[in-house]
Amino acid sequence: MTTMLHRFFGRSQTSLSSAPSMELRKSVARSATSPSVHGGLPDRVVNPAELPLWQNNRTATTGDIPMNQQDRRVAAVLDCGKDGHLLLFAPSATTGRVLAGLEARLGALGVVYTRCATTVEVLEIVYDNQAVPSTAAETKSDLSEGAMAPLLDVLLRKAHDLNASDIHIEVGPTRTCIQMRVHGDLQVVRHLSLLKGMALSRHIFVNANSSGVDFKPEHFQDAKISKTLSIDGEVVNLELRFADMPTWPAGHDVTLRVLRTGIGTAQSIDSLGYDSAQQAAIERMLQTSTGVIVMCGSTGSGKSTTLGSIIQALSDRHGGRKKIRTIEDPPELILPGRQTPIVRDTDGTSRGFAAALRGAMRGDPDIIMIGEVRDNETGELAMDATMTGHKVLTTVHGGSVFDAVDRLIKKGFDRSVLFAEGTLSGVIYQTLLPVLCQECCMPLSQVRMGLQNGLNERLRRSYSGDLEDLRFRGPGCDACGFNPIVGRTVAAAFLIPDRNLRQLLLNNDRFAAEEYWRTHDWSGIYAANGKTVLDQALTKMAAGLISPVDIEARVAPIDSQDAREPARFQARVVG
Ligand SMILES: [Zn+2]
Repeated sequence: MTTMLHRFFGRSQTSLSSAPSMELRKSVARSATSPSVHGGLPDRVVNPAELPLWQNNRTATTGDIPMNQQDRRVAAVLDCGKDGHLLLFAPSATTGRVLAGLEARLGALGVVYTRCATTVEVLEIVYDNQAVPSTAAETKSDLSEGAMAPLLDVLLRKAHDLNASDIHIEVGPTRTCIQMRVHGDLQVVRHLSLLKGMALSRHIFVNANSSGVDFKPEHFQDAKISKTLSIDGEVVNLELRFADMPTWPAGHDVTLRVLRTGIGTAQSIDSLGYDSAQQAAIERMLQTSTGVIVMCGSTGSGKSTTLGSIIQALSDRHGGRKKIRTIEDPPELILPGRQTPIVRDTDGTSRGFAAALRGAMRGDPDIIMIGEVRDNETGELAMDATMTGHKVLTTVHGGSVFDAVDRLIKKGFDRSVLFAEGTLSGVIYQTLLPVLCQECCMPLSQVRMGLQNGLNERLRRSYSGDLEDLRFRGPGCDACGFNPIVGRTVAAAFLIPDRNLRQLLLNNDRFAAEEYWRTHDWSGIYAANGKTVLDQALTKMAAGLISPVDIEARVAPIDSQDAREPARFQARVVG
């Protein structure tokens, strides 16, 4: 593995402790080529989000193979016109028997089909769809408030089970499609009739604790909703952000952002996917009692999760001897509230975020977490807090570690203060990438549909290791509950300023600072410097943890490293 990484990157890299062993790889490859309980491998996996597309492509439902009610629970055949037929199946005790019968019938009819492993939910959607257009049959009681509350409850439980970050309710001209964002991707979970979708949207809005306004789907409307669910005897507090907007030519979209709040234990820093140099860098940032730690990344980049873990670590370390104050709007961190006197100043609307921060500063804190430096007032207050000897944690928007420092300066931080010794503890820019189920992920030779959009060529051009060592999304298996993505891992870039970097940034020479950061031979306490998000993503790709397809979707084209980093490219050619 190490040799391969050397060949690929042209310099030494910290290898991942969690990388799957070659033994595991071999056993996966063996099990993937042997016959499964379903009588053979699926040709591809059904992404539920693709289903509506397929159904639009279907020529006629008469092309489907009729099946009895029992068999419909585990299998479906869809006629997709020129794309041939799809044989969908979900795992169950009867799947093998039902499939054997179906395949014999399809064979006798001379039908060309593709086998697709899927879930019971997707099959429900397939069969539900045929019933959805008959809205005329819905009675008043189907659409009443009394019917909507249990429906919302079911959806929220589903969102909790899937650990979904958002629920999308798309009320279209003919039907309503409900999707959930899980590990960063949308999944279709249910279809409803048009009227039911409208009734559900109205129910959620009028029951919001802060609105008191009538629901007008043709307007842009927002609301906040607090929900408490009891799941397996555990109380789960959900904070929902409701945003509705009209869509063209008819209908409207509701987005429900799902925030889990409350008191609990945050994930430990070493479980988030940082390498050992990065963990050491975070550890060092926490050692000093002053200075500012900046997290940077887009929505869904896991920066709140990391901040929660950092606060947990600080709380564990100081055991109640330090006062931690957090100002968030919306409050979205699970915080260790019992051990440490943490005050959550969450009222971002009535008093204003800056006012909440000012209030927190008066409360004699040692450590202040500012959810986001969103305006100059907050930025200046954050700088004051840093200069008066507090430890400050915060987030900013931006596309790199250098964007983050630029943003802080634009939002009121004085350049000479920020780059004085001891002010900037460090900057972390990160994104989250889906982790493949190691039981069913597939090597390139088993990706039967092939790689799209020239990825194959880009990999051959830029990856000098064995392409068969890479892994792609598998069909799903019992181990992952037929969801081949089992979680997410960070890909991060760190900026730990040394004297030279501070000098270059103080002189506002960003280009020279980036060159120095990228090309200097970093070691010791600065070892985390110099690696981009793409570098770390490629390391994890080489270890078979994440798919090249996901890197291209979320970070950058696989071969963009050299083009983006001319200095390194030249160094490699010369060397
Ligand atoms: Zn699996």
